Formats: sequence, structure tokens, C-alpha cells
Amino acid sequence: MARIFCIANQKGGVGKTTTTVNLAAGLALVGQRVLLVDLDPQGNATMGSGIQKRDLPLTVYDVLLESATIQEAAQRSTSGGYDVLGANRELAGAEVELVALERRNERLRQALKAVADDYDFVLIDCPPSLNLLTLNGLCSAHGVIVPMQCEYFALEGVSDLVNTIKQVHANLNRDLELIGLLRVMFDPRITLQVNVSDQLKAHFGDKVFNTVIPRNVRLAEAPSYGQPGVVWDPTSRGAIAFIEFAREMVEREMSPALAAR
Ligand code: ADP
Ligand code: MG
Repeated sequence: MARIFCIANQKGGVGKTTTTVNLAAGLALVGQRVLLVDLDPQGNATMGSGIQKRDLPLTVYDVLLESATIQEAAQRSTSGGYDVLGANRELAGAEVELVALERRNERLRQALKAVADDYDFVLIDCPPSLNLLTLNGLCSAHGVIVPMQCEYFALEGVSDLVNTIKQVHANLNRDLELIGLLRVMFDPRITLQVNVSDQLKAHFGDKVFNTVIPRNVRLAEAPSYGQPGVVWDPTSRGAIAFIEFAREMVEREMSPALAAR
């Protein structure tokens, strides 16, 4: 049975897509079967996986409107070694269309049930807001991975998101939990970042992942080559960190306490 995770943060530009794409490729490199779901109409995760969003015959939009299954709509990322349920601008319209439909929060959850045995991990790249698309992600998932930069207002933003997760847990999806906070674009030379990182650990304890993703230009360059950073330059510091993070996720998911679930 696949373990399903949303990569979410209501802020834009914090590293959600970079995390989703590189964790997907990192998990594939350590032998996991992975499906990446792009829930952002910008389609950056789709493009970053080497799939042309404009050429897609079917996308997550068709799956949400129940005119296609995931098996029909998913494409293979040959560079990444994982499958992608892609998105493009068409998805922006889905929000409006979904409002009028029944079970509008649960479309993705339903669709994922049919492929649960085909994957070990499903990673959902969320848009930077709490809309119906993100809600479909949160209603489908076992947990949320929150990439964040260690900046001054970061803690405030995270507590908003933690409240959202609690509300979805209480009202819509009893499985949902905060899996962890991932420190990204980290620069240890910046005192403020080190201080915020220490505060995070003091406040959230073991909900802060051990792995830290450094600021590394190779990760930013990779999407223009249609490749995840871990594939484009496996020796870069950013790639090494994401492979380490993939290992941390696998170990976490294979721990005895979790296996009892
Ligand atoms: P989001 O999906 O949250 O909007 P992105 O993953 O698209 O954020 O990242 C925003 C920008 O920061 C992108 O240009 C991306 O290439 C860059 N970026 C993300 N992570 C890193 C990193 N660890 N080092 C350097 N640049 C990064
Ligand atoms: Mg993004």
C-alpha cells in the first residue's frame, strides 16, 4: 500500500516543488516505486520531471473531474524514474468546476485508491494556497511534509499550516498528520537561519527532519534541463542532501512503530 504525502506550505517560492521532484527522484534511486501528483496549475513539477505540460493528453484535471483514471493519465518521467500525474493551466479551472460537484474534497483520494498497490510512495505537490486543490491533496494523504526556509516569519507561517492540518484531521481525514518540517535553502553562515533552525527544533522536536537541504544553485538549474537535481548533478551538495532525505523517509516509514499501523 502506498504511503501518500502532501508537500505543502501556503507560501510560494519556499521550495515545495524542488522538494517534491527531488524526493521523488531520490526515492526512485533507492528502489522505491513513486507517483508524483502535480496539483499546481503552474505545472512546475511536471516540467521539472521532463514532461511537457502543454503536450499532455490527460492531466490531474481529468482525474479530478472523473473523466480519466490515474492509470490512464499518468506519464513516465524517464529522467526521474518515477510516474507523474501532470498538471497545466487547465487545472486552474478545476477549482471553479469542483465547487458545484459532490464529494468535491475527495476526488483525488478516490482516484488514488485504484493505484495504491502500484506504488510505495505518492508525493503530492500542492499550490501555494489553501484552496480546493490543496484540500483534495490533504484529504488524500497520510501526512504533510512542510519545506521551509529558516527566516524571521517562518514560525508564524508554520503555525497557520499546523492549524489547518489539525482542522482537516478533525473534520475530513483522520489519517492526516504533520510528518515533518524540512529546512531548505539553508545557509549555515547566516546567523539568523541558525537561530530560527534552533527555535524550530526547540518548538517542534522530532517533527523537524534530521536532513537539512542547503542552498545550492545546481538544484535551481536542473528544471531547465527537465531533470531532477539529484539526476542532473548527483555529486552536488543539494543532490546528496535530497538522497539523504529520501533515505530518512524510507527509514522512517519502515520503523517498527509505524509498521504496526
Ligand atoms: P515553490 O514550489 O514552493 O513555489 P520552488 O521549489 O519552485 O518553490 O522554489 C522556488 C525557487 O527557489 C526556484 O527557483 C527553485 O529553483 C529555487 N530553489 C529551491 N530550492 C533551492 C535550493 N535548495 N537551493 C537553491 N535554490 C533553490
Ligand atoms: Mg511549486
